[in-house]
Amino acid sequence: MFDVIVVGAGPAGSSAAYRLANNGWRVALLERSNEPGEDNVCGGMVSLPMVKRFGVFPDAVEKEMRSELHVFPWGVIENTTEQCTVRRSVFDRLLAQRAVAAGAELMTRTLARAVRVVAPGRVEVEVQRRSTRRLTRLRGRGLILADGPRTLARSLGLGCRLEDGGAAFALTYELAWPGNEMNHYELYYGGDIALWGYAWIFPYRDVLNVGLGCVRSELKRRGSLQRDLVGFIRSHPRASRLLDDKPIVRRRGGWIPLRPSRRMVGPSTLVVGDAAGLVHPLIAAGVDNALASGDLAGQVMSEALAADDLSASFLARFQRRWQRTTTARFMEIEDWIARIGRPLSRVDRDMLAKVIQLCLLGGTMSWLGKVQVLGYPLLGTPQRARRR
Ligand SMILES: Cc1cc2nc3c(=O)[nH]c(=O)nc-3n(C[C@H](O)[C@H](O)[C@H](O)COP(=O)(O)OP(=O)(O)OC[C@H]3O[C@@H](n4cnc5c(N)ncnc54)[C@H](O)[C@@H]3O)c2cc1C
Repeated sequence: MFDVIVVGAGPAGSSAAYRLANNGWRVALLERSNEPGEDNVCGGMVSLPMVKRFGVFPDAVEKEMRSELHVFPWGVIENTTEQCTVRRSVFDRLLAQRAVAAGAELMTRTLARAVRVVAPGRVEVEVQRRSTRRLTRLRGRGLILADGPRTLARSLGLGCRLEDGGAAFALTYELAWPGNEMNHYELYYGGDIALWGYAWIFPYRDVLNVGLGCVRSELKRRGSLQRDLVGFIRSHPRASRLLDDKPIVRRRGGWIPLRPSRRMVGPSTLVVGDAAGLVHPLIAAGVDNALASGDLAGQVMSEALAADDLSASFLARFQRRWQRTTTARFMEIEDWIARIGRPLSRVDRDMLAKVIQLCLLGGTMSWLGKVQVLGYPLLGTPQRARRR
């Protein structure tokens, strides 16, 4: 019998498992892939301070970024940044190793098929090992679901839902560029690129990670995201100058939940990371939140085990504490902007670009600049803002 069973050894699961094991609890960390991160689809852009805080610096870092370029239909903004790129196969493996070093028991090639809360303080997870294909049952006192957007939490009435306005789909291609010296990243916005989405170029040591994502409701209308990404690579007036001559060596895609779940807690159960929809609703980045929410869940589950109280009302302190964080408050605002703005994009294709620019420069922009951004294309090209 384990104290806690954590399903999913992504950033959320491994940070929860680390926190629990470090506090002395017996933890099972289940991962369906051969190795953590092996199959996880991502642009790999994460905050450098978080990589340091979670103990995987410098080994997990592909490249540290010096600056970021935001390319709007009307001009370019350059900012300094504290981001870095990571390869998920390396990043997730190092995070899982850290949990194992703290005492967690990592079970790879182990698919959780079903989860059940028998009573407060008693959970069961039905697992299938890839080697034997046999179904077995693991028992624990608590359960943390960190199994990404297609979470088993839904079977318990918890976690994220991939509904129309609340989910995005994104494609990411790797383009070979061995030994490149690019140390900034680029984000491209505008209705011609993606409605309520954007394209990115993130440099790794030997490849460029190039991607495109947009909300599910727009995806249905636009048809083929793949065609649009290839179009961006081959013929975008600015991006194609960098990308067009480089061969595509890998193609992946995946769902991203964009709406934080209202139900992250049940008896004996916490839901974290993408499984709880903890992804920024406007920019669809979720790795930092996965790390932070996993860590917090590990802490709260430790407190519940110590108090021998795994009731939903005790565990609810996880959701309360999460909702008090600056990140969660910011995500609420993002969600409201998205809810109000998405219907407006039917009349104004560049809404997301405007919102992002006003968020980036709101405090430093002149009133004329703001009016121009909001009125584009009626009022002509807004001032080209450059910022460092
Ligand atoms: C194309 C794309 C690009 C992205 N780019 C970025 C980016 O650049 N920066 C950023 O911050 N975010 C990005 N995201 C979002 C980011 O990938 C997620 O927010 C992040 O991975 C969430 O981490 P997690 O640990 O919650 O879930 P995941 O990373 O999804 O990890 C879940 C883990 O659980 C395992 N698992 C799932 N089900 C089971 C099961 N039943 N049994 C056992 N194991 C299971 C999976 O194999 C996986 O290892 C991107 C997403 C996509 C789709």
